[in-house]
Amino acid sequence: MILPSHLSVRGGHLHIGEHDTVALAERFGTPLYVTDEDRVRENFRRLSEALTAHYPKVRILYAAKANGNLAIFRALASLGAGADVFSAGELTLALAAGMQPDTLLFNGSSKAPADLALAVEKGVRVSVDSLDELRQLDRAAGAAGKTVEIAFRVNPAIDVPTHPKIATGLATSKFGIPASEILDAYRHALAAEHINPIGIHCHIGSQILAVEPFAREVEVLIGVARDLIDIGVDPSFIDIGGGLGIPYRRETDRAPAPEEYAGAVMPVFLKGIKELGIEPELWVEPGRWLVADSTVLLSRVNSVKTAHKTFANVDAGFNLLVRPTMYDSYHEVVAANRADAPAVREYSIAGPICETGDILAKDRMLPELHAGDIIAVLDAGAYGFAMSSQYNSRPRCAEVLLSGGKAALMRRAETIEDLTALMATPPWQA
Ligand SMILES: *Cc1c(COP(=O)(O)O)cnc(C)c1O
Repeated sequence: MILPSHLSVRGGHLHIGEHDTVALAERFGTPLYVTDEDRVRENFRRLSEALTAHYPKVRILYAAKANGNLAIFRALASLGAGADVFSAGELTLALAAGMQPDTLLFNGSSKAPADLALAVEKGVRVSVDSLDELRQLDRAAGAAGKTVEIAFRVNPAIDVPTHPKIATGLATSKFGIPASEILDAYRHALAAEHINPIGIHCHIGSQILAVEPFAREVEVLIGVARDLIDIGVDPSFIDIGGGLGIPYRRETDRAPAPEEYAGAVMPVFLKGIKELGIEPELWVEPGRWLVADSTVLLSRVNSVKTAHKTFANVDAGFNLLVRPTMYDSYHEVVAANRADAPAVREYSIAGPICETGDILAKDRMLPELHAGDIIAVLDAGAYGFAMSSQYNSRPRCAEVLLSGGKAALMRRAETIEDLTALMATPPWQA
């Protein structure tokens, strides 16, 4: 198997950074999410350098939903990242991690009045998704005696090669304002008393392994910028969203490197702004690309069963990693405590959840497995823990962060008591 540079096999054990995953599983228990902070930092730097090599005015807004742990936010904040936040919770965490309000963009197609009020109060820019929302935001800003800077989320009607559930820029998606109606939206924003339209926002989808859709997206946004200049808006940022994919199937996926991504989008962007005579900041909102490969999910084999096929029944299921069940996603799995043993048999890695669909990995050639062995699920850092649940009344597992030779909890495991802690007894049952 091809391993990224922060993963290695030493003495038969899978290592992440300097750490033996088997020792981590013993020390912290399983299931366990383990994140290599150094890898997150390296990913950020690489993407940042790839983009700024073309143009200095680039801002990276981490897509907070990919991994919501404060420790991840802090690591990225220390590198100068802002964040694309999609809820009051994400906004609050980003500020708590030390990100400045003017490095955040509050996105979302369904913001509540309290969300809009919070953005106004904190001085966070808003990506507005409808005229209805614009009116409400104008009112909220007026009530607070402030002006809010906004972008509109443009729906560019671009078809992208990814799973339909994560294609967000289709003409039929729930996100954004159709490109054909966007100018009218900006006119409304200009007329609104407490709104200052300064940006253009777009996000075409996630896990995109081709660069060409991003180049087409930038072309659409440059067209929008051209129209905006005509009505008197000088865009100060153009936000092209996230979506750069990673090679989950390490043997066969062809994933664009950040340099290739930058090489596709930056020339279109630079040519466009030069023609228009503007120098807006370029914003990008990577989620998956920054954090996915930094993390492994460690899980222990409870039992092995051969029926119509052979199952390794492990202690992590779609309660902790829903991507295989929800998006038919593929994650590489490694027998962490016998990582250099020959693959001898096909196993399906099945979780402990009472659902047929609770399969983390299907039909993988692996070494002989036994109860007690440790399975590492790779590339689990994006939309992994973030989408976990307590389904089947299973407490969520702990998350450990690594930095060099250090390892520490960044979230403790939940307990059975945590499951009932928020439940209340209706008085007639007391
Ligand atoms: C989810 C999301 C992103 C990040 O997508 P990735 O595929 O994780 O890079 C960026 N922007 C917006 C608006 C999003 O909803």
